[in-house]
Amino acid sequence: MFREFYINGDWWKVVFVNSWDEHLVDRTGKMTLATSDYSEKSIFISNLINKELLNHVFLHELGHCIMFSCGLLFGLHKMVKREFWIQAEEWVCNFIANYGCFAIKIARDVLGNDFICIEPAWDGANVA
Ligand SMILES: [Zn+2]
Repeated sequence: MFREFYINGDWWKVVFVNSWDEHLVDRTGKMTLATSDYSEKSIFISNLINKELLNHVFLHELGHCIMFSCGLLFGLHKMVKREFWIQAEEWVCNFIANYGCFAIKIARDVLGNDFICIEPAWDGANVA
């Protein structure tokens, strides 16, 4: 199992921590199951999380990493008032975690062998 990954020039680490670790305190001051730290390029996940929830939580945190590393936060923030930035980011990450696999499964079912997962071109078009 990989514990590190690369997105658009950023090298991210996945770190499993105790459920009371300070890294699990989110931007609003609440204790949570996982956080993404943009400055450390790290995802911190509670080591008490079960396997099914881990999939959901990891996809959610990956959403944060993708938005940050692909320069998507500026575009998202332009669409909502500042007081809703965190809610908007969380909504996008929940959308990915809840429906990302659903969309890929349907695309594979419908397109069969014609389905290919294409990563966005990193030409700077999405970079703020
Ligand atoms: Zn989140």
